[in-house]
Amino acid sequence: MQYLSSKLIHGSAAEGDPHRSLKTPIYESASFDFASAEAAEQAFNGGSEAFAYSRISNPTLAALQRQLKVLSQADHALCLASGMAALSNVFLTLCSAGDNIITSRYLFGNTWSFFAKTLQSYGIEARFTDLEDFNAVDEAMDENTRALFLEVPTNPQLIYFDVPALSALAGERNIPLVVDNTVLTPYLFPCKQYGVDIEVYSNTKFISGGATSVGGSILVYPSHKWAHNPKLEKDYQLFGKDAFFKRLYKEHYRNLGACLAPHNAWLQLLGLETLTLRVDRIMDNTLTVAEHLQNHPKVKAVRYPGLKEDPYHPLALQLSGGKSGCLVGVELENKAASYRFMNALQMVRRGTNFCDNKSMILHPGATIYWDYSEEEKKAMHISEGLLRLSVGLEEVKDILIDLDRALEQV
Ligand SMILES: *Cc1c(COP(=O)(O)O)cnc(C)c1O
Repeated sequence: MQYLSSKLIHGSAAEGDPHRSLKTPIYESASFDFASAEAAEQAFNGGSEAFAYSRISNPTLAALQRQLKVLSQADHALCLASGMAALSNVFLTLCSAGDNIITSRYLFGNTWSFFAKTLQSYGIEARFTDLEDFNAVDEAMDENTRALFLEVPTNPQLIYFDVPALSALAGERNIPLVVDNTVLTPYLFPCKQYGVDIEVYSNTKFISGGATSVGGSILVYPSHKWAHNPKLEKDYQLFGKDAFFKRLYKEHYRNLGACLAPHNAWLQLLGLETLTLRVDRIMDNTLTVAEHLQNHPKVKAVRYPGLKEDPYHPLALQLSGGKSGCLVGVELENKAASYRFMNALQMVRRGTNFCDNKSMILHPGATIYWDYSEEEKKAMHISEGLLRLSVGLEEVKDILIDLDRALEQV
């Protein structure tokens, strides 16, 4: 098999199943039997890959991790209970008290809160920096910087950062680049080609295939930057480029205990089989919707980096072939107009998820950012008429009919 879509469909078949099951079974078992006392010893000391306990490893998760490595071409893949579990495990493995990370202020809400509140309380500082200003990024980095972290594109601003330039900048100082690839997925944005050291994403979105379950993943690429992190120095001497993953897997992943349930791993394995099909269709739908809304007299502005007119289109072309995810920023005259529009929609759901099979819409200023001051919202490019539309898998003509009918009510 040469092509990714075929590999994602066939790779999920069970390996060595006595019944030749075409799907990996759901191994709902907390622990596993050892053939001998010696086998138990080997499972614990790393001498074998045998399964021992499902907080540490499980055959259904192993199948999902194997498939995610096929998707990302990563050295290592680890699946966890949620996208937030994946992110928190990464930064708790990389950082100790006194360390800092460089990131943007445009972040998924809980990621921002994890940085600004949780890590802060353990003495780890997040430096919220303008990642479009390379001088500012350079100035923010110092000898205690353990990662440069970003999302691409940001949600809901839809900013594309210049990942190759930022990767080079961090690389000069041996600082690992960590990317949250939830919005584009590895299918549209291949992290490995852009010098990303650690990729994280929420499986809950595109991977799960219709918001069936919550999950997250960590993908690790070959890197020698771990040698420059005092916390990982010893691991580096022992494991070289695998140092980060070994430390993560042996310590933080087990101790924090945010393991993915086998049933959820199975749902995500099933979702993965149709990932390319769904993403392709949603990209077509999203571009059609963005182009349509752009020309609608009741719409003040449309933001979608897949549109030729968008300021981030050149970067979207470079990084993800001009396909820039399922999110469209739709700006109406004011909040009242955007509420009339939302409430008149019949098929498009009012919901907070995205990359779902169903189209959804949300007013970020009144929901995700409800407790931000007007000034903070302005700085985050969250205007009062801004709506975030997540385009789904439906027949695109139905989406356009629903949007047009609701726009008549504005
Ligand atoms: C949803 C999301 C997360 C968090 O994932 P959960 O699975 O909900 O924990 C992190 N980053 C981005 C960009 C997301 O969209």
